[in-house]
Amino acid sequence: MPQPLPFQPFPLGNITLPNRVIMGSMHLGLEKESSAAQQMADFYNKRFQGGAGFITTGGIAVNEEGMGSLDFFQFQHKQHQLQLQRLVELTKTNGFLCAQLFHAGRYAYHRNLVAPSAIRAPINRYKPRELTAADIKKLISDFTTSAAIAQQTGFAAIEIMGSEGYLLNEFFSPVTNKRTDRYAQPSLLYSEIMESVRSVTGPGFPVIVRMSGIDLIAGNPGAEQVILLAQALEKAGASALNIGIGWHESKVPTISSLVPPAAFVPFASRIKQQVTIPIIASNRINSPDLIFHILQNNQADLISMARPFLADAEFINKMQSGNAHSINTCIACNQACLDHTFSRKRVSCLVNPLANTTVDFPNIHTKKNITIAGAGPAGLQIACQLAKSGTNVELLEATGSIGGQMNLAAKIPGKKEFLDTIRYFRQELKRLGVSVLTNTSLDPSSVQSDALVVATGSMPNNISIEGLQNISHCNYREFLENKTETGKNILIIGGGAIGCDIAYSLLAREKSAEEFYQLYNIDSFVAAGIQSHAGEKNVHLFRRNGKIGQGLGITTGWALLQELQACGAGFHSGLSYEYFNQDGLTVRYHNGETAFFPGENVILCAGQTPSIPHDLQKFTKGKIYLSGSAKNIGDAKQAFADGL
Ligand code: SF4
Repeated sequence: MPQPLPFQPFPLGNITLPNRVIMGSMHLGLEKESSAAQQMADFYNKRFQGGAGFITTGGIAVNEEGMGSLDFFQFQHKQHQLQLQRLVELTKTNGFLCAQLFHAGRYAYHRNLVAPSAIRAPINRYKPRELTAADIKKLISDFTTSAAIAQQTGFAAIEIMGSEGYLLNEFFSPVTNKRTDRYAQPSLLYSEIMESVRSVTGPGFPVIVRMSGIDLIAGNPGAEQVILLAQALEKAGASALNIGIGWHESKVPTISSLVPPAAFVPFASRIKQQVTIPIIASNRINSPDLIFHILQNNQADLISMARPFLADAEFINKMQSGNAHSINTCIACNQACLDHTFSRKRVSCLVNPLANTTVDFPNIHTKKNITIAGAGPAGLQIACQLAKSGTNVELLEATGSIGGQMNLAAKIPGKKEFLDTIRYFRQELKRLGVSVLTNTSLDPSSVQSDALVVATGSMPNNISIEGLQNISHCNYREFLENKTETGKNILIIGGGAIGCDIAYSLLAREKSAEEFYQLYNIDSFVAAGIQSHAGEKNVHLFRRNGKIGQGLGITTGWALLQELQACGAGFHSGLSYEYFNQDGLTVRYHNGETAFFPGENVILCAGQTPSIPHDLQKFTKGKIYLSGSAKNIGDAKQAFADGL
């Protein structure tokens, strides 16, 4: 019987991929490390062993100007070549490693940046220099030399980065290409680079081009031009096209949890109908069901995923062995991967903090029997890690189910994938033999273990504002637990990440792909941007100091705030709370002016405080460890990582 489609071999040039799911390029943030090659190899080998057959490296710059930041590898740098050589040696027996040929163009975060025209990117403080005709000649030569170096080094394939608003994509767009010479033709540079690269690699070597299926910026090229580019690349010798979506400066989210899963696959599909070379779909594909669906419906030939392999290195093996239910699902939060990249930190994963590191385990693992109180992110993580190291673990949870605040987070539109995280941990606890006692509060005097880990999370802060008792109010936890009905006018006290999530759950709902396209005006190809629309409710967020949304992720927070503003949420900060009456809230701004906001309901999102049982001293058998929010108030990323 033939293998199911995702696990069927697939020919790509002179190699045959063992399956149809590849790991897409992701910058790991390891390049600065002295043992970069070894650490990268450890990371990639884990994914190869987990079933990925083909992995594309993070971007490797074709020249110095093309480095995304000073932390990038560069093909023509002798020391970097040695690291790349070592990386290939350490991985070559495990799978196909593909080198990404990268040029950041006007997104380069250093002073020596270049672009088709001297137009600064809105997300970069540095203005690029316009490439001259001689520069372009050298650029083509740099791509070609880099391709030859990659091939000679032993990489199994190369991918030319030409999407997401990087240099080649900038040549393709009239927004960034104002040239009057022959390179005003949008696809010319792509074709010339592809032809030149092919001339040195020979016909069989796999050369993938990552091109943009839609740029998602105002004035971007239309669908016909995108098809013409795909056809030009096929003619120039590309082995496959990997379809990227959106520029980094786009006002449309492309991979965050606000994007419905697989929402952008139709753009890959449309190109697939117009070329004969394989098409690779990417962006927000994170589950076996989606992979099966896309391949079975012939929407793409291959699937590229990056973040899901960060969340679970064993993704393919688990899927293939019928254990898809034990996959640790990427929840598209970006908090430990892309947010780290843009902060120039090593990438990690919120739901899998061990994704890109080998941290030391706290010395509690030397204890034989450990009781953990609290089955939220910290308690779950620490229970599994301890059980893996051979400890007998007893996990107590006061409520009827594991997951802690993830159960609440899953009620917010776009965050229901937290339920997958809970599902994953339920499987892990079972697999590792952790004894889980739900509906069991901690009684420290009765714990017989050698150590006690207190991971009892946090409670919402109380806040005292004059007259609050005169108006219907609850805290964010009560609101999410009970899905309290509200009137039309809602006042949210606290404008941090939780306040924004509560506002979003009042104003928005889970979107289908069609609704997402409509909201962001995507089908028009004209001015992809958010449509303003009145929400069903009037929601106002207040915070004394700082910006509304402070604390949200750098690569996702902007999109949430944008959606909130598009449906009319009011943002108010730089103020003090004067008093409530039964009709609403009076505030005083720091300039002395006052304002009244009508409201029927108030939701308090004024921070959290650790929730620690008061009678811990009754545990006398051994040491007590605080973990997660019970130790330090933080977000889910911190709670998961603290459980290590
Ligand atoms: Fe996915 Fe979040 Fe992990 Fe990134 S940090 S891989 S988005 S779960």
